[in-house]
Amino acid sequence: MKAAMYPGSFDPVTNGHVDIITRASKVFDKLVVVVMKNSAKNPLFSQEERVRLIEEATSHLDNVQVDMYDDLLIRYAKEKNVNIVVKGLRAVSDFESEFQMAQINRKLYPNIETLFLNTSTEYSYLSSSIVKEIYRYDGDIKPLVPDNVYKIMKDRK
Ligand code: ADP
Repeated sequence: MKAAMYPGSFDPVTNGHVDIITRASKVFDKLVVVVMKNSAKNPLFSQEERVRLIEEATSHLDNVQVDMYDDLLIRYAKEKNVNIVVKGLRAVSDFESEFQMAQINRKLYPNIETLFLNTSTEYSYLSSSIVKEIYRYDGDIKPLVPDNVYKIMKDRK
């Protein structure tokens, strides 16, 4: 069975993330979305909330699981015996940091492989931070995030 993981902070999960999850779930037998602690000081959602929001938004995808982790990703890979990392690439700006991360992970753990899925054009501009920015200024985030995320964010205002 070919399993892969898709790590990120997902604060919150966007339609761009769901697109990558959906496409990766067709390529692999099992996909584990790994919610990492956000390095930013003030995440909008707790790690538990972020997990729940992804679970709800992907409940129609049978082979997708959601987990959380706070340590080095390669440790998670070793513990769970999942050696493929899926990442989404939006633009050249993503490339530099993602490339560095992929290289260092392979240096630390040669069994790990990082595979990049290119963004779908309609989501190429989309990031969790832009969603939060629009939300702060009362812009309409409905087209950008799954319905459950939209609802919880609207209710919190
Ligand atoms: P963000 O960059 O939106 O704050 P994360 O750090 O949680 O989100 O991202 C996790 C992964 O998802 C990264 O590999 C990132 O490049 C990818 N990703 C995020 N948004 C998109 C998108 N709209 N299209 C493709 N990949 C994306």
